[in-house]
Amino acid sequence: MKRKLVFATNNAHKLGEVSAILGNQIELLNLKDINCNDDIPETADTLEGNALLKARYIYDKFGVDCFADDTGLEVEALNGAPGVYSARYAGGDGHDSEANMNKLLENLQGETNRNARFRTVVALILEGKEYLFEGIVNGKIIEAKRGTTGFGYDPIFVPEEYTETFAELGEEVKNQISHRSRAVHKLCKFLNSIQ
Ligand code: IMP
Repeated sequence: MKRKLVFATNNAHKLGEVSAILGNQIELLNLKDINCNDDIPETADTLEGNALLKARYIYDKFGVDCFADDTGLEVEALNGAPGVYSARYAGGDGHDSEANMNKLLENLQGETNRNARFRTVVALILEGKEYLFEGIVNGKIIEAKRGTTGFGYDPIFVPEEYTETFAELGEEVKNQISHRSRAVHKLCKFLNSIQ
């Protein structure tokens, strides 16, 4: 029988990316599928903490095997900021990508160290046991936005070994090398190893 796993998200973009990696040996459900409309708290101060908070919330309330992810952009010259606060870097409710990118470019003005990395943490809870998987992509923050695809900080991030930004590379290339895909590939390898 297929293993059922709830991915604690309703983000269609993430669901598509993750279900393509996990393939059809897993029955992937989302929050709507389990009738969860709650605003799940993300109040921890680390990516690991937030991914675990979300996964534990679902496991404790619905009693189902599940996983959750959390991602941050970590900039070397800013001591790892915006990190866990990436969505809300420019303040407010967050998710204002233009404002977030503008604030980051401003804070890096005149800075020659442009090294940065995207880091995703996936927290899995299987029969009550917790597992963490990490995916990292190193790169650089450029000085002005380029490209139109993707979301978040994609127009200002150039991954290592490329000259284009994530927003210029397009979804297909990005999904092959992204932080999230690297973390989910590790999750997938683990699930295959215990079947
Ligand atoms: P989340 O944990 O996946 O919701 O990511 C938190 C924030 O990190 C998002 O709101 C984006 O600002 C940023 N982010 C996450 N993944 C990406 C990505 O693949 N490209 C650009 N920005 C991202």
